[in-house]
Amino acid sequence: MSNLEAGAPIEDLTEKVIDLPLILEPRELKLTTRSGVTIKRTLPHRDLKKIGPWCFLDAYGPTSEQGAMQVAAHPHTGLQTVTWLFSGRVVHHDSLGSSSTIQPGELNLMTAGRGIAHSEVSSDGDAPLQGIQLWVVLPDFARGRNPDFQHFQELPRFSQDGAEITLFMGEILGRHSRATTYSPLVGAEIKIRGFGSEIPLREDWEYGVLAVSDDVDVDGNIVAKDRLLYVPRGRKRLLIKGKTKACRPTTVVLIGGEPFDEKFVMWWNFIGRSHDEIVEMRNQWQSCDERFPHFYDSIEGRIPAPEMPHTRLTPR
Ligand code: MN
Repeated sequence: MSNLEAGAPIEDLTEKVIDLPLILEPRELKLTTRSGVTIKRTLPHRDLKKIGPWCFLDAYGPTSEQGAMQVAAHPHTGLQTVTWLFSGRVVHHDSLGSSSTIQPGELNLMTAGRGIAHSEVSSDGDAPLQGIQLWVVLPDFARGRNPDFQHFQELPRFSQDGAEITLFMGEILGRHSRATTYSPLVGAEIKIRGFGSEIPLREDWEYGVLAVSDDVDVDGNIVAKDRLLYVPRGRKRLLIKGKTKACRPTTVVLIGGEPFDEKFVMWWNFIGRSHDEIVEMRNQWQSCDERFPHFYDSIEGRIPAPEMPHTRLTPR
């Protein structure tokens, strides 16, 4: 995924007191080089920059458009991209030479570290395209590491109070994903059936619940489809209820983690710690520097970086 919002409103975020319950409404963005799928972005949000180390959340689809996603080569630094599909397939290529097709129930985890470039193209078929992409900010000790790409077909899958949980990142309820993480966190798909399920939480973590398939009731708060409920620290459990008469389960995604205290700058597809670092990364992408090696894919495009804003970016 490539961030086409070119700076604002991410850099306009100020520390503010959060009114609860906080239910984040997505912004709709067109992600396009060809037909273009509509993105519903809930993080970062003007009211909330991140949840634990999760700093970006795009949901897309379902769409049956041919060639719905055609995201040409673009760079990343200082973050991990986490791709999780509900339907359809996406082909990933990157500057490490990785080539991978992901389908529902599998995880693509790309650790940008000091720098990587990748492209993402949906593969047309019978199933519509629907999925999410999240970014995890890397802590200072890990952000300069070498880039890495991991694809997982097998992930921990288990039941909890009638819910079916697939853990793609981190840990929950004593289960651990094999995906490499650098901060204490969780990312899980939860399918709710029947009258609802109680999900135990860690009191020292904050969480978010994304309503994927339908409206859901989380502890009495109605979270409309495509919205993200913020759950602050101090909660022991969540009671998540779907539509009791539905023939299919209600799907939500749970993200969370230890609050991430390091200040950082997120601009376009880069995360750094200062304005000058971001300028350097941008120049290196624009000049085809070896920090972001060339690679081959089926579309052979290259997304240029937007212009830098006229003000200096401030770490927040
Ligand atoms: Mn990307």
